[in-house]
Order: sequence, then structure tokens, then C-alpha cells
Amino acid sequence: MSDASKDLRLYNTLTRAKEDFVPIDPRNVRMYVCGPTVYDFAHIGNARPVIVFDVVFRLLRQLYGEKHVTYVRNITDVDDKINDRALRDFGAEIASGKLSLNEAIRRVTEKTADQFHRDVAMLGCLEPTVEPCATEFVEPRPDGKADMISLIQRLIERGHAYVAAGEVLFDTASMPDYGQLSKRNLDEQQAGARVAVDVHKKNPQDFVLWKLSSPEEPGWDSPWGRGRPGWHIECSAMSAAYLGEVFDIHGGGLDLIFPHHENEIAQSRCAHGTETMAKVWMHNGFLQVEGQKMSKSLGNFYSINELLETETFGGRKWPGEVLRLAMLMTHYREPIDFSVRKLEEAENTLRKWKRAADLAPAAAQQLPVAVVDALSDDLATYAAFQVLTQLAGEAAEGNDAAASLKASLSFLGFDVGTAKVDEGEIAKAIARRLELIAAKNWAEADRIRDELLAQGVQLKDGKDPITGERITTWEVKR
Ligand SMILES: [Zn+2]
Repeated sequence: MSDASKDLRLYNTLTRAKEDFVPIDPRNVRMYVCGPTVYDFAHIGNARPVIVFDVVFRLLRQLYGEKHVTYVRNITDVDDKINDRALRDFGAEIASGKLSLNEAIRRVTEKTADQFHRDVAMLGCLEPTVEPCATEFVEPRPDGKADMISLIQRLIERGHAYVAAGEVLFDTASMPDYGQLSKRNLDEQQAGARVAVDVHKKNPQDFVLWKLSSPEEPGWDSPWGRGRPGWHIECSAMSAAYLGEVFDIHGGGLDLIFPHHENEIAQSRCAHGTETMAKVWMHNGFLQVEGQKMSKSLGNFYSINELLETETFGGRKWPGEVLRLAMLMTHYREPIDFSVRKLEEAENTLRKWKRAADLAPAAAQQLPVAVVDALSDDLATYAAFQVLTQLAGEAAEGNDAAASLKASLSFLGFDVGTAKVDEGEIAKAIARRLELIAAKNWAEADRIRDELLAQGVQLKDGKDPITGERITTWEVKR
């Protein structure tokens, strides 16, 4: 534990102020971050919250101890965009009866989630403590953890939701302080509503908790008929399931403040009868590419994978840690302009730091206090990087500055290549992975490969020239 643990300050969107962070229970500091909707490659805008909150996770672990932080990031695997994707990719198979829609959806979500995991491992992100999938939290669960149907039922019982035209809707007028996070008040919202109001809604801001599914759409049996949840309710269920009714930090991108986070708060507070859902709400800023809003029509829409594996951005591939540093060079609340120049700058900086860190045979046991202090000031990554640059300037063969720099880089998720590789453990992991491949359990096999990669160990698959048997070799990637 660092002495700086008392000094963590975070900007809270709820109060629009930087505040001292006081955990509800320092033995279990709890954070929830909205994860990806798995219907397509994650784009670089999606990478920003994953990287930013990975640094928050690392900092909390540093301040409170690794075992005393729980980080939940969900996977949204129920969404109409996923259905559309399944129909687009597997329409013919579905029409001919070769594949059910559910099976096609499962293929889309599994493949996309695997890709997401590979991408974020390359970006140097730790896995969250728990990564629940929304579809596992729709119906009441045997383990009694919170689920969406029970939450919706409770909202109806407490007078915060109603059934109309086959939908269950949240009654925003039943919550006098609805709109606190986005600072919208209900009257203004109604006056400003431009879209035609659905006639079955009591108020234009009322939002869907449950909607009916046609036989061609995925659905679950519920007291309101076979249907599927609205978008927001899943995060209320999964956060309650793993973090309780009130927890410490809720994070996500700025674009989620309204309606998603506002509605999560409404659902959770009204279902549980609590004053707050999360004490601190953290939001990362927007991302632009080369000075323009990223959009498919402008042709400047890039997936994480395209930057890592193809030459579409700046005519070359970019290492994941360069992308990571480029993202963190801008303060997380500021808008970021992602550009080739920024990536080049990050690559040069990283090269200098690593060369200096290489002068130390091993990382220092303690992180420099100045690095922890900088990050504890609402994640002032820029100030932390200034400390790193200073250490790099002072580094000499085997001195403390080099060792401190090495420790700092590793803490921030950059590969310093010194993690002593345990050959026995790698051999075991490779053997286990080959068993999984033989059993066609690709997801688990890929997970092992990605875990090793996160430690800097790259696997190479090949065939034994004589026996033709699959063999796997490895090398330390720098
Ligand atoms: Zn969410």
C-alpha cells in the first residue's frame, strides 16, 4: 500500500467536481464499466474507456491492494444490432433451416467477444475481475444473483414502471429527481422533445425495460410475454449482481451519460430504494480521428484490429502499447484527436523510455511516489509521464532511476520485457492449449494464447515437418 492512498481525487460527473475518493469498503473497492456490444469489431473509440479504466483499475489495486478491488465490465450480447448482424451473415442458412436464429446470434457474439478480448490484451489491459454476459442475467438465476426480470417486476410493484402496448416502460415522472446525472430536468426535456411521442408512453422520456419479441426474434418468457430487455436494465442487474445495490465507481464514455447512465441510475435507485447507485461517475472524453468525427461515411472509421494488424492507418501496423500510450497522452476527460503523428510521438517516447529502463536488470520493488501521486490527481497521466521522462534522463547502468522507470512502465501496462519467463509454466500452458484445440474449444485456447501474449510471450503454431503433428513454439516479444 502506498501512502498516497488517502489522497486519491476523482472528478465526479454527478457533482461536476473533483472530490476526495473515500471507498465504501476499502477491503473491497468496487467499479463497474459498461463494456462492448458484440456485433462487430471494436473501433478505436471503444478502446479509450477500456484503456482509461484499466489504468483506474491498476491504480486502485496499487492503493488498496490487488485482492481488494473488484472490477466488473459487462458484455452486451443481446441487442437488435446483433440480430441484424446474424441475419446479414447467416440469412441464407437461417432461411433454409440449417441454422436457428439463436445459434446464428451465438456465433456472432462469441466470435466478436473473442476478437474484443484479443484486441484489448494487445493493448496491455488487465482482464476485469468479472466479465458477465447480459444474456445470463435476463431470467431469475439459480444462484439468486440480481436479474433483469426480477428488477423489472420490482419496479412495477413499487410504482415506477407500467405495461403499455406490449412493453414495460419506466415511469420517469415517478422519480422526482430523474435527470441528476445529465442535469436535464423533466419539463425541459418534454418541451424540447422533437420526435413524435409514442402514444402509449405517459411521458416522452419514459424508456423501455421490456419489449415483446416476434417469433423470429430472440426472446425469453416473462410475466409480460415472450420478449427481450431494453438496453439499460442489463447494467442495473449485473452491477447489483456483483457489486451490490450501491458501489464506488461507475465508468464509461461521455456519450453514455444520457440516456444510458441516467436510466441505469433511475432503475437501480428506484428498484432498491437507495439514494445513489454509484458514488463516483467517471466519463472519458470523445475521440476524433485526424481532426474529424469518426464515421463510416467519412471513411475515417478504424477498428482496433485494423490499427494492430493492417496497414490502413498511416500505411503501417502499430504495436498495441503505442496505441495505449497515444491514448493516455491526453487526459482522459479531454477530447482526443487520434492521428498518425500522435502515434509516432508515442512510439518515439516509448522507445526512449524502454531503452533507459533496459539499463536496470530488474524493476524496483516500489513505484515512484511521484507517479502514484500524479495518477491519484484524477488520473493526470501527462504528469506521470513527465516523471517517466525525467527518470529516463537520469537512468544509468543499474541505477535506481532505471529500476524505478522499469517498475513504472510495467505498472502502467507497458511491456518491459524483463518479466522473467517461467519456461515450465509456458510449456504447461502450451500443452493445455493444444488439448483445448483438439477439443475444438477455440475460445479457451485463444484465451491462453492471449494471456501469454500479455506477458510478452508470443506463440507460433506450426507443423512438425516429419510427423505432420501440430507443434507450438514461443518467443519473447519485445
Ligand atoms: Zn451500462
